[in-house]
Amino acid sequence: MTTSNRPLSGKTALITGSTSGIGQGISERLAALGASVVLNGMGEPAAIEAQRASLAARCGVKVTHDPADMTRPDQIEAMFAKAAAEFGRIDVLVNNAGIQHVAPVDEFPVDKWNAIIAINLTSAFHCIRLALPGMKQAGWGRVINIASAHALVASPYKSAYVAAKHGIAGLTKTVALEVAQQGITVNAVCPGYVRTPLVERQIPDTAKARGITEEQVVRDVLLAAQPTKRFVGIDQVAAYCSFLCGEDAASITGAILSVDGGWTAQ
Ligand code: NAD
Repeated sequence: MTTSNRPLSGKTALITGSTSGIGQGISERLAALGASVVLNGMGEPAAIEAQRASLAARCGVKVTHDPADMTRPDQIEAMFAKAAAEFGRIDVLVNNAGIQHVAPVDEFPVDKWNAIIAINLTSAFHCIRLALPGMKQAGWGRVINIASAHALVASPYKSAYVAAKHGIAGLTKTVALEVAQQGITVNAVCPGYVRTPLVERQIPDTAKARGITEEQVVRDVLLAAQPTKRFVGIDQVAAYCSFLCGEDAASITGAILSVDGGWTAQ
């Protein structure tokens, strides 16, 4: 590959929650564009090491994994300190780590509420505050917050998730304004339903909360919201994120960008 189709050569991308699903897909795209990658997320150590080594070998870039727990500010700080020692700075930050829990609000477990707000919202604040000084120094940076259609509209039984994702939209706009003149763009990408482990796990819970079968959840709850009647592809979300990293996207900032099969057009 030539440098022109490796526009992120010499840059480093940190993608939270990239050991699975959408985050893993984004890490693949950014590494293919030449970025060194810091993976983050939970999982079986041998599987994560296989993912890390395979990505590095296939894309010819340096790839590390940091197991920082996104509920722990001290571990997030340690992850950035380690990345600074290893790569100098983070040029592309993708706040993607996320969890879900489905329950009526008056039965919502308090520990689940706290975990969802910590992982889906507060960790993005910590990663942004730690990444921005290096981006400002370089005069270039990309922050991509993986939000959701639930940053724009609600669904019942997802109070914590919807609150966190609406919060991410506000955080995105605020930070975009703060760094608009420093070559740094900050955007939120809002997927509709993507068939990842996060969605697979909520199907039985939604069936229970609504008193319907799992097949009915897929047809009448998940895909009912999406006019295309198809799941959004991981690759489609990842491709959009890679576009946002390019110079063609330098004027896109503070935007809440839907990739949702028409869901929020309704
Ligand atoms: P996933 O379950 O496949 O992946 C989630 C990732 O987050 C994993 O790597 C996991 O290890 C990591 N993670 C979870 N808790 C963590 C913690 N405490 N610390 C560090 N990492 C942690 O889910 P996904 O569907 O790929 O979701 C990724 C993002 O996309 C989430 O923010 C989610 O809200 C968002 N999203 C997903 C969909 C969808 O339909 N799948 C739709 C819209 C938005």
